[in-house]
Amino acid sequence: MAEKPDILGMTLEESKAFAKDLGEASFRGQQLYGWMQKGVFIDEMTNLPASFREKLREECTYRMPRIIQKQVSQIDGTIKYLMGMIDGECVESVFMRYAHGNTVCVSCQAGCRMGCAFCASTLRGRSRDLTASEILGQVVVIGRDTGERVGGVVMMGIGEPLDNYDNTIRFLHLVSQKEGLNIGLRHISVSTCGLVPKILQLAQEGLAVTLSVSLHASDDSVRDRLMPINRTYPIDSLLEACQQYFDKTGRRVSFEYTLISGENDSIEHAAALADRLRQAIHGPCHVNLILLNPVRETSFSAPERARAKEFCAYLEKRGIGATIRRKLGSDIDASCGQLRLNHVENADSIKK
Ligand code: SAH
Repeated sequence: MAEKPDILGMTLEESKAFAKDLGEASFRGQQLYGWMQKGVFIDEMTNLPASFREKLREECTYRMPRIIQKQVSQIDGTIKYLMGMIDGECVESVFMRYAHGNTVCVSCQAGCRMGCAFCASTLRGRSRDLTASEILGQVVVIGRDTGERVGGVVMMGIGEPLDNYDNTIRFLHLVSQKEGLNIGLRHISVSTCGLVPKILQLAQEGLAVTLSVSLHASDDSVRDRLMPINRTYPIDSLLEACQQYFDKTGRRVSFEYTLISGENDSIEHAAALADRLRQAIHGPCHVNLILLNPVRETSFSAPERARAKEFCAYLEKRGIGATIRRKLGSDIDASCGQLRLNHVENADSIKK
């Protein structure tokens, strides 16, 4: 049996065509589209004729993620969500308030298969990719739940966006639709651990998104250990791809560098990083320093904040823009991966 169309993953035009296929006027498709972007359930779409709503219930799937758990930071209003998908898979999404507007961090896979040594999301591998509609659904549901405008998106939740390439591209189109959520591509960051061929492919898409590359080391032997993907695409090839991304899109590449005590956080490491970036990147780049969020299952720890400040100051002195990422939601442990992991582990222990 053919799968029923997944309507949340439709563009406005597709939604109009779908309404017509069901024997309705195309403006009904437009109304449907408008409701879906607000996270409204079919029963609540009060200006649609009951007969159309009935057809929708029969003829399509409307996969809005379900909020399973929600943690609200008392410090800064950051909200972390555990979102359940239709088949019981779950992922995390985060709502963050910044001075320039609200940003949502979305997940793109249930789990991850990239194997980074310090990351909670990958500990149990990847269960499956999310569809474009499931990625969009996280933004829609958060918009509805908070009642606030979302102005930016970061693909920095669970999963590797470029390992779920087609759904990521489709999501970027959907979320930036003028008639829909209308989140400007310039306000979207796609974070990758460094899948070089996919970075080159992304550069060709003509999408003005910010590419955020998780570098975390400037030496291949260190990066090989922290991030297995480096054994396939070592640092030289990665930085070359970043340069090409900049040449093609004109968008500054930003690098994530998580400081891990004793692994990559000394001033010598900062110097090596500055040398390497200076050599490889001709054009603006920016380093986002992140203090490691320790994961129970690993033995890594974070350096003191003073160390991060020294590291940051050193990069700046060398003319490389650097900032230490402000930690939002520190009282709710708002970095990704751990809420899902607890949930999956609880489910396992119940089954046993
Ligand atoms: N797969 C994408 C998105 C991952 S999450 C990527 O690799 O970029 C976003 C960022 O958080 C990445 O830079 C990732 O390396 C980093 N990260 C993962 N676990 C972390 C931890 N325990 N502490 C700090 N940063 C972490």
